[in-house]
Amino acid sequence: MTQSNSLTHAIVIGGSLGGLLTARVLSQHFQRVTILERDNIPEQPMARKGQPHTRHLHGLLASGLETMTRYFPDLPQSLIAGGAVMPDFALGMNWYTGSGYRQRFPMGVKATMMSRPFLESLVRQRVLALPQVQLMDNCGVNRLLTSPDRQHVTGVEVELRHEGNQLLEVMADLVVDCTGRGSRAPQWLAGMGYDAPAVSEVKVDVAYATRLFRRDPADPRGQQWTLITPEAPRQTRFGAIFPIEGDRWIISLGGWHGDHPPTDEAGFLTFARSLPAPDVYEVIKNAEPISDIIQHKFPSSLRRHYEKLRRFPQGFLVLGDAISSFNPTYGQGMTSAALQAAKLDDLLTKRTPPEKLALAFFKRAAKVVDIPWQLAVGEDFRFPQTSGPKPPGVDFINRYVAKVHRATLHDPVVGLALLKVMNLMAPPPSLFHPRIVWRVLRGKRPSTETIPTLTSQTSVGD
Ligand SMILES: Cc1cc2nc3c(=O)[nH]c(=O)nc-3n(C[C@H](O)[C@H](O)[C@H](O)COP(=O)(O)OP(=O)(O)OC[C@H]3O[C@@H](n4cnc5c(N)ncnc54)[C@H](O)[C@@H]3O)c2cc1C
Repeated sequence: MTQSNSLTHAIVIGGSLGGLLTARVLSQHFQRVTILERDNIPEQPMARKGQPHTRHLHGLLASGLETMTRYFPDLPQSLIAGGAVMPDFALGMNWYTGSGYRQRFPMGVKATMMSRPFLESLVRQRVLALPQVQLMDNCGVNRLLTSPDRQHVTGVEVELRHEGNQLLEVMADLVVDCTGRGSRAPQWLAGMGYDAPAVSEVKVDVAYATRLFRRDPADPRGQQWTLITPEAPRQTRFGAIFPIEGDRWIISLGGWHGDHPPTDEAGFLTFARSLPAPDVYEVIKNAEPISDIIQHKFPSSLRRHYEKLRRFPQGFLVLGDAISSFNPTYGQGMTSAALQAAKLDDLLTKRTPPEKLALAFFKRAAKVVDIPWQLAVGEDFRFPQTSGPKPPGVDFINRYVAKVHRATLHDPVVGLALLKVMNLMAPPPSLFHPRIVWRVLRGKRPSTETIPTLTSQTSVGD
């Protein structure tokens, strides 16, 4: 059965955040955009079978918020109206690392604390309000359809899960795979006679355990984000607690290289108490739990190098976690997906010819991914158990970055430089600016300098 054969139709496979942002961008360039999602999409914000990770704590980096706000100008107000907490990023920071708390200062950009399903539901409402965009849920894509010579992707074969698994062929001029880490694009390509992309995999053996608690809206700790991160390699555990909508706390505990938090009540509390700072434990020790404790194992950061392929079929792209899934403790995935979607927007705005689109896009997406990958993998190699392709010079860089971390405990100028890099607003080499190096190496001297507050944001992908 063939549904349509328009020349102005784009398909997005996967209706999670990467797919929704992609659909938003494509709606500016195609007459029709169809999102095909395997799961049933509930009305209420809630995690689904195909995205179990969304039940865990998700922080949105400042450059991710800025990119999403470009496409949905009312997003910050709607987040706040729905109960998200959005203080100044560095004033609202309560971040213990190694042996102390990082200095706070006004940064001029927002931290965004909400549940991941709530953010997605706001984005979905806005995308589906666009007249060009249609969502077909309960639709799992089985395979790509191609021209007889296999040079063009012409559509997809869909399994209609609510209609007795009937098969449907949907034709399109462009198909974008946003199916996340488990993407089958490499197998689809191989089946069409193309090379699968080379893969970089860095093993970290991280696990999360997450639970929701009731929050007293008058609790002043509900205006800050709390993070306790290890000084690698001597410590391996982290804990984070964010105030989120619905007067709730979300807490995620975790550890690298097999130091995984237990999922039973007593073990969970003991793990929280074992962290080097008491802040997470202090909030939850008497708080009322309102969910089970759930676990997510994350074996490795994974990057598929589509940018290295010489041949690629026309009319097909891959975006988001399907290209690169990073160790989630650095909070980069949603921002990476948003920045990649913005790159696709740029290329389509410039009317890149269809036959050149894939190679041009993968080159730009790789530039977006390079930085969060470098940051995540670089930090992970501070643990000797981390294995996989190690970037050259990483041990030297890590020795310096360890000093940067220490300097942020007393020097807000270094703190600002580091937070800009972590928020993907400045490139990592900015930490090697002579002004920063001098401050890092001179040791502990209290600063009286005023920090210039950021007024406009620029992401490093720009
Ligand atoms: C534990 C954990 C914590 C994280 N924390 C953060 C954080 O703090 N900050 C941050 O920015 N990022 C974080 N991330 C990453 C973030 O969740 C992702 O980057 C983000 O969800 C975007 O992913 P995506 O849309 O590309 O893919 P996914 O979210 O994986 O979505 C893929 C979608 O495709 C659908 N699908 C799959 N196969 C098919 C098919 N054949 N046909 C149709 N549909 C299909 C799935 O049902 C799903 O809806 C975290 C990840 C994990 C694992």
